[in-house]
Amino acid sequence: MREIPFLDMKSPYLELQAELDSAWARVMRSGWYILGEEVQAFEQEFARYVGAEYCVGVGNGLEALHLILRAYDIGPGDEVIVPSNTYIATWLAVSYAGATLVPVEPVERTYNLDPERIEAALTPRTKAILVVHLYGQTAEMDAICAVARKHGLKVIEDAAQAHGARYWGKMAGNLGDAAGWSFYPGKNLGALGDGGAVTTNDPALAERIRTLRNYGSKVKYYNLEKGFNSRLDELQAALLRVKLPHLDEWNARRARIAAFYLESLRETGLLLPHVPEGMTPCWHLFVVRAPQRDALQAHLKAQGIGTMIHYPVPPHLQAAYRELGLPAGSFPVSEAIHREVLSLPMGPHLSMEDAARVVEAVKAFFTPLPAREGVREKEYQR
Ligand SMILES: *Cc1c(COP(=O)(O)O)cnc(C)c1O
Repeated sequence: MREIPFLDMKSPYLELQAELDSAWARVMRSGWYILGEEVQAFEQEFARYVGAEYCVGVGNGLEALHLILRAYDIGPGDEVIVPSNTYIATWLAVSYAGATLVPVEPVERTYNLDPERIEAALTPRTKAILVVHLYGQTAEMDAICAVARKHGLKVIEDAAQAHGARYWGKMAGNLGDAAGWSFYPGKNLGALGDGGAVTTNDPALAERIRTLRNYGSKVKYYNLEKGFNSRLDELQAALLRVKLPHLDEWNARRARIAAFYLESLRETGLLLPHVPEGMTPCWHLFVVRAPQRDALQAHLKAQGIGTMIHYPVPPHLQAAYRELGLPAGSFPVSEAIHREVLSLPMGPHLSMEDAARVVEAVKAFFTPLPAREGVREKEYQR
């Protein structure tokens, strides 16, 4: 039986091999490897793609978020709203800046920050809302930005899973004051190593991040402040320039798989992704939910089908955040989500034939056992 990987990491290179190899060779021969023409060109091209005025290439997605907070002078004594369910990098960026995390629960059906819960979490020390477009679908940005405007808060997007996602036609990464991007290889726009960027329409912020990413220096060996070393390198920028023009087409392939899953898995016991009006996800992940998640994952594994759990443990229950003293039960919505979500194979190089095999395997898990029937959407409406 042929294995179906959760994400095919080899085919993206093979599809663009000639172009990627020549971009690589061009940089190798150039004799210039840090902050040169490739990074500058990618910054312009990615800013244009997102529709933002500025883009600054940085070392990775975590640093992109961290540097945004630093550049806004958000630090000790300040509070930042974060989702209670996200990848830990969102939280770590706030910790790096020395600010205080204020987790807020998501809307259960979309997994994204619940705008209606934000106001109750605000204090005079709140400086920003760090919103995540989880799994590739934007949060409810109109409502979130309205709360932010009312209270004078910055809106920072964690767009690490949202390359090409749209909200009422407008690109993720151009929906708040600034956005942090990751080009980790598994993202929709992935480098062949680490990489990240900040997009913004704020010229002062862009300028400060350009300085902060490079030791706090604008002119070599003259340091204006204690900066960091967090630069997108020339090789990765050159490779990203090859991949960027293919992003929309690759996202369209993901959308075709998603449409097929949504249609074919309707009659199973799974809770499927919910796409509210105005949202155009980039389908970074296709996340389903079932109380029997672990058994389903084991069943699919036995059929040679790879899946992942995004994520098995919420940040507040990680050993890394023991110091916060937030026991199990502190964020029940997030905890229930973490217990039941499963990500099915998804990517631009997943064939329809393999997607059909995934569907058949999921159906086989649910149909033969009458005891499992009755697990329907209504059970989730608690
Ligand atoms: C991947 C990811 C990050 C971090 O990106 P890195 O480039 O790995 O540092 C941050 N937030 C979210 C939601 C992510 O998925």
